[in-house]
Amino acid sequence: MRRFGLVFSLLAGLTTSAQADLIFNISSTGNAQADAAFAAAGNFWSSIYDDDVTINITAGFASLSPGVLGQAGSARVATSFSTFRNVLQADISSADDSTFANTLPTGSDFSVYINETTEGLGPGFDGAYVDDDGGANNEVVRMTRANAKALGLVSGTSTVEDVAITFSTNFDWDFDPTNGIVGGRFDFVGVAIHEIGHGLGFVSGVDVLDLNDDGAFSDNAFTFVSPVDFARFSPDSIAAGADIDFTADSRDKFYSIDGGVTAGGGLVGGMSHFSTGVTNGDGRQASHWKDNLGLGILDPTARPPGQLNVVTDLDLQSLDIIGWDRAALTAVPEPSTLAAFAFGLGFFVCRQRRRREQADEAN
Ligand SMILES: [Zn+2]
Repeated sequence: MRRFGLVFSLLAGLTTSAQADLIFNISSTGNAQADAAFAAAGNFWSSIYDDDVTINITAGFASLSPGVLGQAGSARVATSFSTFRNVLQADISSADDSTFANTLPTGSDFSVYINETTEGLGPGFDGAYVDDDGGANNEVVRMTRANAKALGLVSGTSTVEDVAITFSTNFDWDFDPTNGIVGGRFDFVGVAIHEIGHGLGFVSGVDVLDLNDDGAFSDNAFTFVSPVDFARFSPDSIAAGADIDFTADSRDKFYSIDGGVTAGGGLVGGMSHFSTGVTNGDGRQASHWKDNLGLGILDPTARPPGQLNVVTDLDLQSLDIIGWDRAALTAVPEPSTLAAFAFGLGFFVCRQRRRREQADEAN
């Protein structure tokens, strides 16, 4: 697999030639430059995927916590695991889609390697164990509303808000990456691409479990397994016989699109591809790649001021497999060089916020 992707600046000119049917309806922030940059971020994703849906984003600025550049909140939709697998298999449009959809568990339930629950309090990694008792959390998949649109579970023309994205007013932004990023300013378009990526479905339910630090709830309460979580494994979860690793702890979690047989992160990261949780893990929200490995735009921290953020094939594949359909090959941007990857200390790109739940909105 080609490991390294593209520098956004190479993409800016692609947007008109590759427009397809994925449309972003983004509210005005009140700042014309920011609105144009937001549109460019939407156009980037539209150049990659061509699902015939419209994603409604409420965009704005606010004074966010120190070190947080932006935040995204996505409406969520729950469906049964069987329905999820069926619509995913019906949506196969790439070899990666086929691999992922056809290596999911085959029954109506899936098992999870989990911890931090009332059943799992104990020694070791906070009592990690295999939960396969068929409880609600073994049969529900919860995805972002935009993801549900890509899978046909929600009407693609629904005008209800899918994602809310807020940028911090506490930083200086460069709204135009086509001429590089000015020193002292952050790459607005790159951060917007990151936040929209969460909205499209790059989230992990482990961030919800991670809040259950004292085991206040039983495992059946954690009906938050996301589509991307079916690509989340550890050697321990596999050795234990669980279908996925859904623990909130500091052990490495690797990305695999074939049920854990092959670690898909490639050369970088070894068996560590996902962040593991703010409270019980590595201090980063689990809804991200592992930090500081240059894995992609969905790293938890952004490039420092004056630098462009980078999208990788890993980013694109991770959304492809959960239901987004890659546009024609001509729309795939050219790869950048290794030299583009020199991740250092960064600022948090975002804090994921959970939005209102929309259980069982799916058909
Ligand atoms: Zn993020």
